[in-house]
Amino acid sequence: MGKENRKCSFCGRDGKNVDMLISGVGAHICERCVEQANLIVAEERTVKAKNKIPSFKLFKPFEIKKHLDQYVIGQEDAKKVLSVAVYNHYKRINYAPAKSNDADEVEIEKSNIVMVGETGTGKTLLARTIAKMMQVPFCIADATVLTEAGYVGEDVESILARLLQVADYDVAAAERGIVFIDEVDKIARKSDNPSITRDVSGEGVQQALLKLLEGATVNVPPQGGRKHPEQKMIQVNTQNILFVCGGAFDGIDKKIISRMHANAIGYGAGKSGRIDRDNILQYVAPQDLKSYGLIPELVGRLPVLTYLNPLDRDALRQILTEPRNSLVKQYIRLFEMDNIKLEIEEDVYDYIVDKAIEFKLGARGLRSICELIMLDAMFEIPSSKDETDTFTLTLDYARNKLEKSKLDRLRVA
Ligand code: ADP
Repeated sequence: MGKENRKCSFCGRDGKNVDMLISGVGAHICERCVEQANLIVAEERTVKAKNKIPSFKLFKPFEIKKHLDQYVIGQEDAKKVLSVAVYNHYKRINYAPAKSNDADEVEIEKSNIVMVGETGTGKTLLARTIAKMMQVPFCIADATVLTEAGYVGEDVESILARLLQVADYDVAAAERGIVFIDEVDKIARKSDNPSITRDVSGEGVQQALLKLLEGATVNVPPQGGRKHPEQKMIQVNTQNILFVCGGAFDGIDKKIISRMHANAIGYGAGKSGRIDRDNILQYVAPQDLKSYGLIPELVGRLPVLTYLNPLDRDALRQILTEPRNSLVKQYIRLFEMDNIKLEIEEDVYDYIVDKAIEFKLGARGLRSICELIMLDAMFEIPSSKDETDTFTLTLDYARNKLEKSKLDRLRVA
């Protein structure tokens, strides 16, 4: 039978009105219907891919800790606690969808994290390193700029707007991201302070944060603020977003000590009876966060609590040279790109650490000091006509550059 005597079984067009008619068992299809079907298949595939819940390569706690060891010096307890929390979090996400119909299934609650430790001891670095390892979107929010909805400042939803941005507006990816909320101690309730009549930045913000931490569907304005009311909101579910909060909690040591004293009276002295007074933060407990001014509901939503040690001179010295992308390794690489071998004499490291301690700059200051020392060399060497291919940084050179620079402006009062 010729094509003229047949019809497309899909659109019914006559064979003589089509360019091509493909025949199968008991049916025919014209080229237009083939093209149409192709489009439908492609569209369906994209929708499915979008809805597909990404599953994670689950790194074991031991592997996570080993990875953190490459980038973060010391902080053994925090690394261990974080490794377990992150492992459990992503395990929970990976297994949850498959089992959701099982009524007997134990629902594993989300384990948001709070880290207590002086500024510049590695809290952000830990969170960032984990997010990178898990290959999930990561963003940092500063609790101090957050306000209750309606006040001047950023609403808590702005945090999610930032996360969405980092995730390239892939909502499914953002919904499995990690958010680091810095300076969470600064939104502590300050009600003992009589000068504050309206606690705009305190409890109200904690309440607003609570909503995010609990797991809710939040309407997020795509560009942050609410300046364009006509903007279409994006719905983000925070159920599987891991929130990591950090804060220095200045003065919490007193709360810890007084709690420990109170307990010691009630139950007799602690196990060993000895308290390491140089590092009180290691004893931090959820009730100390409450006495500090975090509302109990918020503390309840931050079940994983850990602390960071202050960095001593050995730690600072290690930070300078040991991490996989340590400052020194970065400078060496920068010079290498200009075909120059950078050599740094050992006593320069001690000098830099001494200055960081003297000026109370902590780990963050190491970079500023290095920049001041290296500035001239980095300015001159790339265009120098010299044939030298090695630059040796000596103690004299470092001292000379630093003394000439405006080092004093780095000093922390
Ligand atoms: P925090 O969040 O505790 O205020 P950061 O994590 O932002 O401190 O640390 C500031 C910088 O100091 C980091 O980018 C890193 O270069 C360095 N740093 C701080 N602590 C450590 C550490 N324990 N190991 C390696 N580098 C560190």
